[in-house]
Amino acid sequence: MRQKIVAGNWKMNKSFQEAEDLLDEILEIMEEEKGENPQMVICTPFPYLELATDMMDEFHPKIGAQNVCEFENGAYTGEISANMLNSVGVEYCIIGHSERRKYYAENSGSLVKKLDLLLNEGITPIFCCGEVLEEREADKHFDIVRAQVEEALFHLNSDEIRNVVIAYEPVWAIGTGKTATSAQAQEMHAYIRALLNVKYSKDISEEITILYGGSCNAKNARELFSNPDVDGGLIGGASLKAEDFFKIYKSF
Ligand code: PEP
Repeated sequence: MRQKIVAGNWKMNKSFQEAEDLLDEILEIMEEEKGENPQMVICTPFPYLELATDMMDEFHPKIGAQNVCEFENGAYTGEISANMLNSVGVEYCIIGHSERRKYYAENSGSLVKKLDLLLNEGITPIFCCGEVLEEREADKHFDIVRAQVEEALFHLNSDEIRNVVIAYEPVWAIGTGKTATSAQAQEMHAYIRALLNVKYSKDISEEITILYGGSCNAKNARELFSNPDVDGGLIGGASLKAEDFFKIYKSF
């Protein structure tokens, strides 16, 4: 279901105590916000997921993980399965983030498996796609994003794709302070929606939530979110301070 979403990606930041304090602050600010539209999602590091899900009630932010293992269970030392995430109350999971594609060789082959496992567990995947700077400068950004979307997502049937959130994150904008312009974001989001229209249907393409990510902050969120095909944001750095994150959340 298409929904306004602001999702925070804490990445590998915060001690346990700092995580608890930040969650407390967010909950305090969110006290008056009983509602699911926009939906706030907080993607914490693995060790804090259970703490986070325990702290939320049904009206509060949903909790997400930042990765999941591509295998179901068994001898995969150091990995975390989709079933484990479900068992501690996780409802969203980021996959295909550019940092994982770059440092951990995440590719469409493993993403297909991760998507299937997450959907089987009823966890909403937040699937990230986006081009690097050289690809944009060479005017290949549409081709790159099309390939990422087609290769990872298009094995899903119409019912399954409805349960996926897509995050367009131009890699050159992540953690750089260099945000895509509102027009660049809208153009790519509309393009992704058009791909979904061709593969599935107009109705399905209109049902899918597409987030923008890349140096989105309290100052630029309102303009980015005002675009018809931008349904919210995936927020890195600015999700680490409760006030900033809340301002972004209120930017629709
Ligand atoms: C991200 O990590 O997904 C991200 C968008 O980071 P930042 O907001 O810091 O650019």
